[in-house]
Amino acid sequence: MTGESHAFFEGKIVPFSEAKVSIASHAFLYGTSVFGGMRAYWNEERKKLFAFRPFDHFRRLLNSARMLHMQVNHDEESLTQILLDLLRTDNWQRDVYMRPTIYKADIGIGVRLHDLRDELSIFVLPFDKYVKNDTNAHVTFSSWRRIDDNVIPARAKVAGAYANSALIKTDANLSGFDEALVLDHNGHVSEGSAMNIFMLRDGVLVTPPITDNILEGITRRSIIELAQKELGLQVVERSIDRTEVFISQEMFMTGTAAQVVVVTKVDHRPIGRGEMGPVASKLRELFDDVVRGKNPKYAHWNTVV
Ligand code: PMP
Repeated sequence: MTGESHAFFEGKIVPFSEAKVSIASHAFLYGTSVFGGMRAYWNEERKKLFAFRPFDHFRRLLNSARMLHMQVNHDEESLTQILLDLLRTDNWQRDVYMRPTIYKADIGIGVRLHDLRDELSIFVLPFDKYVKNDTNAHVTFSSWRRIDDNVIPARAKVAGAYANSALIKTDANLSGFDEALVLDHNGHVSEGSAMNIFMLRDGVLVTPPITDNILEGITRRSIIELAQKELGLQVVERSIDRTEVFISQEMFMTGTAAQVVVVTKVDHRPIGRGEMGPVASKLRELFDDVVRGKNPKYAHWNTVV
């Protein structure tokens, strides 16, 4: 990529600087947009860019749109095609992050979801690490609660709901922590500010179920499959109590931006021996190979750009 990148905006690919919405647009005023967060990885040996599970990301985006009464004239295939066209326009040869958004585009006042025009936008950014200490993160239990399905659906990526994530992340960072664990209204551990969580207890990998107010993470789903098939681990989806975390052997967080972030301390208590454990370490290696198209067994997760 040289010069200005491009974006998909109001039905076509335009220079990034031309993709602008009004200060009076519904999505800007009320947070009424849904989005995806996707990555494409550059494989230097094969000189190829691989988008990771775009079909699954677009399915979740369309499901989020459905929850917000949005009318979208696209399916997973056509969205993937638009994404590939956009990535090819700028000939990216590095790791990138892609942000598709479907938003309530009408201008004016009136909070609701119906009778409003919906638009799609996508932009691409160069992207590397999201959490700096990704092999030795120190996290805290947030004093904020995770949004509940009956408040704003946690399984949808609704822009307005990310005020909750922002409160969680900023309070953790300003108190010196890398990330936070968030309890739901029942007091169970749900997830981080923008990542799902796993803990290893007695050799079993445990992660909260999709009914504990989590976002149904695509990285989470991928890691569950890799842990079962490649490491032969038992994976259990069940609610997690706060104090279970302190006595877990290993802990890590997963997300598109975060990838696999290893937690070695929670509120000043070491997890296991206080250093990255073998399960997290193996999963990080496996995941990195898979996303870069280096593991033929999982080639169906990679879309060649
Ligand atoms: N939870 C939340 C709240 C998130 O924003 C994200 C990032 N999309 C995740 C979990 C992880 O989801 P994924 O693996 O699909 O990126």
